[in-house]
Amino acid sequence: MGDSYDEECDYLFKAVMIGDSAVGKSNLLSRFARDEFRLDSKPTIGVEFAYRNIRVGDKLIKAQIWDTAGQERYAYRFRAITSSYYRGALGALLVYDITRRATFENTKKWLRELREFCSSCMAIVLVGNKSDLTHSREVNEEEGKILAETEGLYFMETSAMQNLNVEDAFLQMINQIHQTTIQKSL
Ligand code: GDP
Repeated sequence: MGDSYDEECDYLFKAVMIGDSAVGKSNLLSRFARDEFRLDSKPTIGVEFAYRNIRVGDKLIKAQIWDTAGQERYAYRFRAITSSYYRGALGALLVYDITRRATFENTKKWLRELREFCSSCMAIVLVGNKSDLTHSREVNEEEGKILAETEGLYFMETSAMQNLNVEDAFLQMINQIHQTTIQKSL
C-alpha cells in the first residue's frame, strides 16, 4: 500500500485503525491513502500498512497507518499480536458503522483495549462510518458526539463510499499528533 516509500521524510509516526469487522476501516484507509473504494472488499487476515505524506511548512511528515485487516476477530486471544499492533502508535481511528448499533456499543471495548495496550496513543478520533446509508441508520450523530465528549475523543461521521469527511477524520488525528509532539522539534 502507499506510493511514498522512497520519499525522504522528516518525521514518521504510526497510527492504527480499530473497530469491529466490516465497519469500513480498510475502505477509509484506502480512500485516505489512495482515493479508492472497493465495493467487494473482504476482510483478510493479517496487518496492512498505508502511508500518506503530509507537508507542514518545509517538513514532510509521513503517517504510517496500520489496519487490522480482519485481525480484530482474533486479537483479543493473542496478547502478543495485540500489543505489537498497538506498540508506539500515537493516534487511532476508532470506527463504527452507523447502521449497526452493536458496532457502536463495542467501541467501549475497543477503547478499553486501546488504553490498556497503547499508552503512547494521544489522538483518538471516533468515526461513525457509512453516513450515506441514511435509511438504515441505527446510531444518531448526537450519540456519537456525546460518547466522544465523555471519553475525550474527536468525532466525525464519514462515508468511505462517497468520500465524505474521510480526509478530515485522518487529518484531525494527524494535526493533533503534530501539535502535541512533532511541532516542539520543528
Ligand atoms: P473493515 O472490515 O472494517 O476493514 O471494512 P471494509 O472496509 O472491508 O468494508 C466492509 C464493507 O462495508 C464493504 O462491503 C464495503 O464496501 C462497505 N463499506 C465501507 N465503507 C462504506 C461506506 O461508507 N458506505 C457504504 N454504503 N458501504 C461501506
